[in-house]
Amino acid sequence: MVTVLPKVDVVTTGMGWAGGIVAAELTKAGYNVVGLERGEERSVEDFLLCHDEYKYNIRKDLMQKLNKDTLTFRNTRKDEARPVRSESDLVLGTGTGGGGTHWGAQAYRYFPYDFEIRSKTIERYGAGKIPDNMLIQDWGITYEEIEPYYTKFEQMAGISGEEDPLAGPRSAPYPTPPLLMAPQLQMFHDAADRLGYHPYRVPAGNVSEVYTNPDGETLNACQYCSFCGSYGCEYGAKSDPIVTVIPTAKKTGKFELRTHALVTRILKNGNKVVGVRYRDIRTGEEFDQLADVVALTSYIFNNVRLLLLSKIGQPYDPDTGKGIIGKNYTDHHTILGATGYFEEKKFNNFIGTGAWGSAYNDFNADNFDHTNVDFIHGGQIEMHLLGNEPITNNPVPPDTPSWGKEFKDKSIYYYNRTLSVVSQRAFLPYKDNYLSLDPVYKDDYGDPLLRVTFDYHEMDFKRHEFLSDKCVKQLEEMGADLVVPHPMQEHFSGRFTFQHDGGGAIMGSSPKNSAVNNYSQMWDYENLFVCGSSAFPHFGPMNPTPTMGALTYRATEGMMAFLKNGGGLVIQPK
Ligand SMILES: Cc1cc2nc3c(=O)[nH]c(=O)nc-3n(C[C@H](O)[C@H](O)[C@H](O)COP(=O)(O)OP(=O)(O)OC[C@H]3O[C@@H](n4cnc5c(N)ncnc54)[C@H](O)[C@@H]3O)c2cc1C
Ligand code: SF4
Repeated sequence: MVTVLPKVDVVTTGMGWAGGIVAAELTKAGYNVVGLERGEERSVEDFLLCHDEYKYNIRKDLMQKLNKDTLTFRNTRKDEARPVRSESDLVLGTGTGGGGTHWGAQAYRYFPYDFEIRSKTIERYGAGKIPDNMLIQDWGITYEEIEPYYTKFEQMAGISGEEDPLAGPRSAPYPTPPLLMAPQLQMFHDAADRLGYHPYRVPAGNVSEVYTNPDGETLNACQYCSFCGSYGCEYGAKSDPIVTVIPTAKKTGKFELRTHALVTRILKNGNKVVGVRYRDIRTGEEFDQLADVVALTSYIFNNVRLLLLSKIGQPYDPDTGKGIIGKNYTDHHTILGATGYFEEKKFNNFIGTGAWGSAYNDFNADNFDHTNVDFIHGGQIEMHLLGNEPITNNPVPPDTPSWGKEFKDKSIYYYNRTLSVVSQRAFLPYKDNYLSLDPVYKDDYGDPLLRVTFDYHEMDFKRHEFLSDKCVKQLEEMGADLVVPHPMQEHFSGRFTFQHDGGGAIMGSSPKNSAVNNYSQMWDYENLFVCGSSAFPHFGPMNPTPTMGALTYRATEGMMAFLKNGGGLVIQPK
């Protein structure tokens, strides 16, 4: 029997960054919000003495358990998809804070080019530059329009950084100064300067000094403790939802958090949604939580899966090109470059943070002329000091045995004598990369798993070759004695990058080309807002969270306009 619960203004389906932002903004404005979260409640105290590499970085203790729920993966439609069961291949957040508790906190903005990629590419190079099977489109929002929301996210999260001279214009400086300049980073800057590029210290949510955000939440100063990405922060120094937006929502008295609440369906009536059905996973009881507005905030895989399971929107069909749900799936599959070995120099590679680093964007977006290269977009050239944890970091030159005395001696010798320069690059959507429901595999409760069909295309390899070469040259200029490039595999292996996925419920200027408008409001169901990177029509060149956060801030304005006006689309379809 399903228990029907009284209607609230807004219900969210997950309490990561997206759910937290919705809860904070709507409750501050006086609306009642119920936050449903399938995992448990977490607080900073849960992370005390958590510097256990095996538990958190290898066994992925904070993340979704893949023996209970996962997705299936195949390269092409001819293949049979298999469930991803290894925690090292797929890391998804669960529990309050979601992936936001164990993110590294590299906090980039995308470029103006990203938001108008199709028209800007055609304008400069002609339509022939875009392959027939590539599905890039403008996002239905410009950088200028999204900029105030980036600023809002950065101020809420206390982001520490300095201006990238090649990025889009900013309306405000970063709220806190950049992290310290380490000797290795100074080497990176000096070499980049000599090569004529434009280095800058990257924006970090590892906050450089004590900071109180506009909602009154205080973040502590980062201790450069090294156990950051994949870990929670025991110092309360990493911007995450459990030290920012969730306490802000709780303080209003208008927010109710329900954990262990797995949302299984979106409930609808005609062309409106009326709430969600969820199961208390401790007791098996089912509830219908009624709401005026449903905010899907369960990360792209579960956002898309809930839409497909609830038969909302037309599923994408790669044969006909018709349908929109599941279309334009992208993942940031390769963050590759090169490793440099230095015989004469020794660094402190143990100290680090999830986002301590420097970079340049001379080969990113459309910051350089693509006339003579066989690809569009590009990537950021970057070096990070993440803190080389001892089990997972054993850098040895090629031809070293992978076990025994020689391996041990060399891995100890080179631990502090290597640096890696990598490039995060854009991944663009293709007709045959998409999300759908798996016809074979089901979760613990009998619902089909989500199926990912994805493989690389020619431009991905061309972009990789070009950017790898830049990483090699950067390390040579830094004085490395030996530089070893990282190879790109021939096919995507099914090893997903740290929650860097986009698409499936994409945004755009019209219901003809998108599932949601630029307020993340579904064109077909005006009281359903699909928040998160599921709205990205392509995956930009760097980590996604500030872009996702900015779009969610904008979505909250859409929800308030909808609630205030008593209904309707915030933007009229074209
Ligand atoms: C190790 C790691 C490092 C990262 N580093 C960076 C970085 O440096 N910079 C960056 O920009 N990004 C980084 N990311 C990505 C970042 O974590 C995500 O972009 C961000 O967490 C997405 O926020 P979200 O709220 O959309 O989704 P999530 O954080 O995944 O939150 C979704 C929430 O919904 C819940 N949920 C899911 N399904 C249901 C359901 N059916 N019912 C109820 N609840 C549900 C989940 O349990 C989860 O708590 C990293 C990710 C990982 C894993
Ligand atoms: S590196 Fe800084 S932000 Fe990251 S966990 Fe350690 S103290 Fe926290």
